[in-house]
Amino acid sequence: MNIPLLDLKGQYLVIKDEIQQAVNDFLDRGNYILGQPVETFENAIAQYLSARHGIGVASGTDALLLSLSAVGVGYGDEVITSPYTFFATAGSISHLGATPVFVDIDPKTYNIDVSLIEEKITSKTKAIIPVHLFGQCCNMDGILEVAKTYNLKVVEDACQAIGAEYKGKKAGTMGDTGCFSFYPTKNLGTFGDGGMIITNDSEIAEKIKMLRVHGAIQRYFHTIVGYNSRLDGLHAVILNIKLKYLDEWNRIRREKANYYNALLSKTDIGLPNVAADNLHIYHQYVIRTMNRDNLRQYLEKRGISTAIYYPIPLHLQECYQFLGYKENFLPSSEQAGRETLALPIYPELTDSQLEEIVDAIKCGIQAVDHRP
Ligand SMILES: *Cc1c(COP(=O)(O)O)cnc(C)c1O
Repeated sequence: MNIPLLDLKGQYLVIKDEIQQAVNDFLDRGNYILGQPVETFENAIAQYLSARHGIGVASGTDALLLSLSAVGVGYGDEVITSPYTFFATAGSISHLGATPVFVDIDPKTYNIDVSLIEEKITSKTKAIIPVHLFGQCCNMDGILEVAKTYNLKVVEDACQAIGAEYKGKKAGTMGDTGCFSFYPTKNLGTFGDGGMIITNDSEIAEKIKMLRVHGAIQRYFHTIVGYNSRLDGLHAVILNIKLKYLDEWNRIRREKANYYNALLSKTDIGLPNVAADNLHIYHQYVIRTMNRDNLRQYLEKRGISTAIYYPIPLHLQECYQFLGYKENFLPSSEQAGRETLALPIYPELTDSQLEEIVDAIKCGIQAVDHRP
């Protein structure tokens, strides 16, 4: 029996009729760009997160890019972020002519270590991008305090954390902007690319609305140089339906994670740590072990798919060699890159599948531990 890392079709089958009906209605109406479906979804997300403005954009990557641009990041600026994240976090900084400055992670939560931020701040530092990795928020009190002291903007990368909470506040609503992705594998995903920026600041919201249509308030009158970055109406229609299920899906993910925790508690596998005051949504369920690569191979042989997020932290990527980081500069990120393994987790994963995975892990660690 094969157990995939994620079963997107399984989720689709549950809501197939509803989606097909809504998509057919959308196609019949004939109005495909921005318009009502996008506005409805923007308002629904803003309401769900208790934020003032939602602005739909083409992807999570663009949500970061347009956010950074809107808060004033540009050529020569420095932006502090985590090296242990998806590439888009840093790529968006580079695309604006700014420089990513990488700060090591807290090995327990895999999120940026707030105590290491201050020493990296220079006169060029303009913003911080906290990445709420795997579905758990960063230490936002600490980040907001540093940002306030040094007058820095905060752009939250909440692409993996829609619905996650920190002290009762939703991920993405605590900084100047919050960025979300609706890539198919995210907890709220469409059947293609999509993204959203959340902000409580009306000026930033207006600027982002311009930036996504080539910098024009009125068509063909360009105030600034912007981008083509709209959320497609088609995706908004689909996401409007899926949003109703999000809390339930996140709740079931938490249940699955707790079940994994219980079954793996007596092994020496490192389990996810949930920091105080956090509601984790388990975009990924990530374990750690020194024998990661062998364990992964063993699981693969038993038909269980896993993934490594992320094998090479960003400061050691080829494209960032010019920044001068060397091995061992950011040791917690590098160690996480060697030791972590993401297991299948999604609402449709059955308990018996989960038990099979745990059984395979237990056999797997014994097998790899006894290697010569
Ligand atoms: C998915 C993701 C992004 C980018 O989102 P896209 O919609 O794929 O462009 C950015 N940051 C993080 C942490 C992500 O997981």
